[in-house]
Amino acid sequence: MRASRAARDNELVRVLIVEDERKLAELIARGLREEGHAADIAVRGEDVVWMAEAAPFDVIVLDVMLPGLDGFTVCRRLREREVWTPVLMLTARDAVEDRVAGLDAGADDYLAKPFAFDELLARLRALTRRAPNERPTLLVVGELRLDPAARRVWCDGAELELSGKEFTLLELFLRNAGAVLSRDQLLDGAWDMSFERRSNVIDVYVRNLRTKVGRDTIETVRGVGYRLREPE
Ligand code: CA
Repeated sequence: MRASRAARDNELVRVLIVEDERKLAELIARGLREEGHAADIAVRGEDVVWMAEAAPFDVIVLDVMLPGLDGFTVCRRLREREVWTPVLMLTARDAVEDRVAGLDAGADDYLAKPFAFDELLARLRALTRRAPNERPTLLVVGELRLDPAARRVWCDGAELELSGKEFTLLELFLRNAGAVLSRDQLLDGAWDMSFERRSNVIDVYVRNLRTKVGRDTIETVRGVGYRLREPE
């Protein structure tokens, strides 16, 4: 019954499971097949890049703890090879540093072990639904990484606390990295029409943003506006 529901909803996906614990890998694979998906298993991180390049996987479930190359390294290599298949990282515990390291390595989501199979399935559905149109899910410029969906931002691996407007402004800068944005463009992008248009509000927000992302990250272009500096 379950398989036919999946087929009817046209949700059939091909999943690559990377996990050296055979029993767990096979448990996940069996569950996915029962839902009407295709599932392949890789035991070694070293095999993932060529497998992902050889077959059109829709999503990769990647365990962090692997013999040889760990999950973070594998994910980074995939992204270096411009393989953009969504990656769900399995972490041994719900550690913040693992989560950040996973996102930094180019993963799209993470799930802490132990997990319920239904939770895994829900995460995989979410990832395959949003791929590939909304990729890249992370805006990355230099040391800055911003996740628009989760409204979170990291600088050099550390998460930043930004107000709503600061976040919106920074997202604008990241989406237009290297381009000069005038104060009017920034106002248009981050404030609605009802806002009293005093352009010095932009200067105040930029000053605040600079204390969080680094002074030199946002350059002043005299008489024109501001520019997010792109790394060399
Ligand atoms: Ca493992």
